[in-house]
Amino acid sequence: MNIPDEKAVSQPGVSLWVNGGAVPSTSLRSGVVTNPATGNVIRRVPFANAQDIDSAVKAASAALPGWRSSPPLRRARVMQKFLALMQAKQKELARLASEEHGKTLPDALGSVQRGIEVIEFACGIPHLLKGEYTENAGTGVDCHTLRQPVGVCAGITPFNFPAMVSLWMFPVAIACGNTFILKPSEKVPSTSMKMAELFKQAGLPDGVFNVVHGDKEAVDAILNHPGIHAVSFVGSTPIAKYIYETCARNGKRVQALGGAKNHAVVLPDADLEFTADALIGAAYGSAGERCMAISAVVAVGAIGDPLVRLLADKAGKIKVGPGDGEGVEMGPLVTLAHRDRVAGYIDAGVAEGAKLVLDGRNKKITGYENGFFLGTTLFDQVKPEMKIYKDEIFGPVLVVLRANTLEEAIALVNANPYGNGTAIFTNSGGAARRFEEEIQVGMVGVNVPIPVPMSFYSFGGWKGSLFGDLHMHGMEGVKFYTRTKVVTTRWPHADTPAPGLNMPTLG
Ligand code: NAD
Repeated sequence: MNIPDEKAVSQPGVSLWVNGGAVPSTSLRSGVVTNPATGNVIRRVPFANAQDIDSAVKAASAALPGWRSSPPLRRARVMQKFLALMQAKQKELARLASEEHGKTLPDALGSVQRGIEVIEFACGIPHLLKGEYTENAGTGVDCHTLRQPVGVCAGITPFNFPAMVSLWMFPVAIACGNTFILKPSEKVPSTSMKMAELFKQAGLPDGVFNVVHGDKEAVDAILNHPGIHAVSFVGSTPIAKYIYETCARNGKRVQALGGAKNHAVVLPDADLEFTADALIGAAYGSAGERCMAISAVVAVGAIGDPLVRLLADKAGKIKVGPGDGEGVEMGPLVTLAHRDRVAGYIDAGVAEGAKLVLDGRNKKITGYENGFFLGTTLFDQVKPEMKIYKDEIFGPVLVVLRANTLEEAIALVNANPYGNGTAIFTNSGGAARRFEEEIQVGMVGVNVPIPVPMSFYSFGGWKGSLFGDLHMHGMEGVKFYTRTKVVTTRWPHADTPAPGLNMPTLG
């Protein structure tokens, strides 16, 4: 931190949001939020303790009986009002996300839009919650299913999408009749507070949606609180695994999405110019701080050399600057520590013998000398055993590996421990079909570099990118936030045979 602590103390603080209003934390611990473009501390954030989490659970538990028993249509109407308010405040939310994260305003606007689309999906909850019914499942016996809310749910989210990732979770959970406690990343707390305010304005009863801030202490209090029944997590793989294991041990339903190393496989018949443009956006958009960013290109055969030349040319022309700067295409990294960590990977790549085609380490932005900037970086001739390939760098660093055939490329992607997203660039339908069938990754693009599913499909990876069974939003989200109950009914009359001791068979 390049700002003296006294200055940090004088910054305005963020509150917690419990039982329908902003409340202070009882904790003495707090952190600072920085503007990554200037390096300045812009606000303080309280780090909630177990007592704060308990207050949020009490509020969410008290609100649960009323909310879960309100008709889904009434819940959908609150959701529709929330949708309208979110649309009206989309720019304000994007500005907050850009200010605290560093991403450009148009990029932030797009990500808020993708989050709002989950609210649109959740507005259809009366239809989505419909159960099944079988008349005469046995003679004179009917059977039906109910989808009932799980209870008090919690969401723990990463820094890189201050609004969108939380929106993958809480609109679906709340529409299903649950109450919710959100613990956003302590680096980007403000959009969540704004969303809580808007949800209240939309008519959401107090206690249905709560926001707590903090670090491991707050997260552990969530994982260990017996009043919380389900936890959704998105963040890095080691923490996702910890969340999954701890929740499973504590008997909670859990979905924990982790990190990624997303490959684009480029076949020799791909449209070179189109592919290069797609890869540039996917690798350097949001300074590479996207879990669906393309961070590794597998160039197959003769396309390798011309592709690397074109990528270097295009990456070198990207305008880097503050997120709200005119014409800026790529902003800073989220913190100084993260910027330095990414720069450390560039050092490591050079030391490991990869070919550094474009070096972003010395990027300086006039007027923003204390900002956490890095320029675009491109490595070629990267080998699978190198650290810059094996680790998730989460910055504007793209590595290119070479393969001779599609089989070799598929084998390389499948050997990677992550399995979030991937894309193939080709003009061959047969090759694309084979890729789609054989690749062990959760989200696949064909000439689409960042195949983030729409809200009515589900988002989630495979392998080290997701611990749990169900993905987020879409029908998988509805399944995660509801429990199925199967009801078997008979109304006996004069002809009904008397029940006996044998295992009933409903023929
Ligand atoms: P992170 O894992 O450091 O933090 C995520 C959340 O966990 C935060 O709320 C944080 O406060 C909390 N946390 C951090 N350390 C903890 C600990 N030791 N114990 C308990 N809780 C802890 O992730 P991040 O740096 O905020 O976000 C970047 C990561 O998120 C990347 O790995 C990225 O790939 C991943 N991500 C994945 C997806 C996906 O859909 N798979 C989406 C976005 C981001």
